[in-house]
Amino acid sequence: MINADKNIRTKRKTVALSVDNEGRVIVRAPLDCSEKRIREALLDSEKWLEKQLKKYEESRLIREIYGIRNGGKIPLLGEDFETVFSPVSSAKVEGRTIFLSEKNPEEQLKKLYRKIALNYFTERTEYFSSLTGFVPSSVKVTSAKTRWGSCTSKRNINYSLFLVMCPLDIIDYVIVHELCHIKHPDHSRLFWNEVEKTVPDYKRRRKWLKDNRYIMDLI
Ligand SMILES: [Zn+2]
Repeated sequence: MINADKNIRTKRKTVALSVDNEGRVIVRAPLDCSEKRIREALLDSEKWLEKQLKKYEESRLIREIYGIRNGGKIPLLGEDFETVFSPVSSAKVEGRTIFLSEKNPEEQLKKLYRKIALNYFTERTEYFSSLTGFVPSSVKVTSAKTRWGSCTSKRNINYSLFLVMCPLDIIDYVIVHELCHIKHPDHSRLFWNEVEKTVPDYKRRRKWLKDNRYIMDLI
């Protein structure tokens, strides 16, 4: 049974549970609410609370490991790199280390990531174009934080810069997904059948993106 870390009594009618941004279970209850009723509410929501606590723990670990700071980790094409502050005029990669100036580390990192993203995404898009026969009119990298990629009616494909942090098989899935929109500008059964031809395990990769949305907030 999960216990409350904090009980807040107010002039309310129902018992409400939540997990705050420090991972504490908060109970909000009416002034005259019995301890028994609170215990029951905690028991009823045990599964939900466990899920919230697990989510909190995952995001705490991510914040502890990742981030643009001296010694912080940052992913690139699915591999973790260590960021180290150093007086460099632009981001420099050496082995598994990315050197960044303390003055504008984020700006330097984004510039580097944008360059790598455009090269890599363009090359992979050309590869999958030759496999599928779907050829875009242009490939761009944007700062979109709401989606990983998009394809316009004019066949212009845009990829989110943040996609460059994802593993290679996930990037491939997004590329194939956008290319298939050239034929099917929707998410119909026919569209998914088309994706499946090139990426048979697309469901697993799609789920990965859903479960790892935090990547968009790392830089
Ligand atoms: Zn789509």
